[in-house]
Amino acid sequence: MQSEKPNLSKFSTLDTDRVLELEAKRKAKGYQPGWLYYQCKPLGLVDVMESLRSQGLIEAKNTKEGKAKPRQLLTIELVPRSCWFSNVRSEVSKEDWNELKKMTYEKANNRCEVCGGRGPKHPVECHEIWHYDDDQHIQKLEGLIALCPSCHEVKHRGLANVKGRGEIADQHLAKVNHWTMPKTQKYVDDQFQVWIKRSKYEWELDISWLNQFGIQVKPKRVRSKVVNEGMDKNILRTTCDLTLW
Ligand SMILES: [Zn+2]
Repeated sequence: MQSEKPNLSKFSTLDTDRVLELEAKRKAKGYQPGWLYYQCKPLGLVDVMESLRSQGLIEAKNTKEGKAKPRQLLTIELVPRSCWFSNVRSEVSKEDWNELKKMTYEKANNRCEVCGGRGPKHPVECHEIWHYDDDQHIQKLEGLIALCPSCHEVKHRGLANVKGRGEIADQHLAKVNHWTMPKTQKYVDDQFQVWIKRSKYEWELDISWLNQFGIQVKPKRVRSKVVNEGMDKNILRTTCDLTLW
């Protein structure tokens, strides 16, 4: 597909050179292909980027063809009540969120990254992976994952309860992990105990994972102070307790 002298007459040499420079930087830094979009967007160079990409001059977004990752254990991830910031979707622009979702789905080939399945109405949904440091009380965004609606429901087991779907969620959890129902119920109970414990603390937020895409997050729901500790480490102090799951 790669031609020696691509037809880029539509765009200025300056613009194409700028995009190619950014692509070289991306590779040198080891960022994902999606990073380039966020660099080109504010510069008005998305068209140039897409043209270069279609000619194979910069890396395609979906570099890994074929199968989703091997199956992994399905776990419950209850967000402590004291972490108000539990939802990247609500804190970034719609455009950014759509792009993040698209990248996540493409990376997973539109299959659930836990069970390998797809939902009947829509194949996958985008789930945010958070890590909770129980010593420092820092809630850290670790990435996004594509999940089928059933696995996603298990992740938000508290919400499943609210919707009267706790039992259905548990059955799916047992099936995916090949667990017995008693083992599944013990695990669910344990996770709710962890949630109760974590909900007693105030959590700081680390969303530096989004930096690789150049996404600026402007939290809309901060009730009191926001502490930003440095340019490359977005840690925000949170005080709200609105989250249910
Ligand atoms: Zn699944």
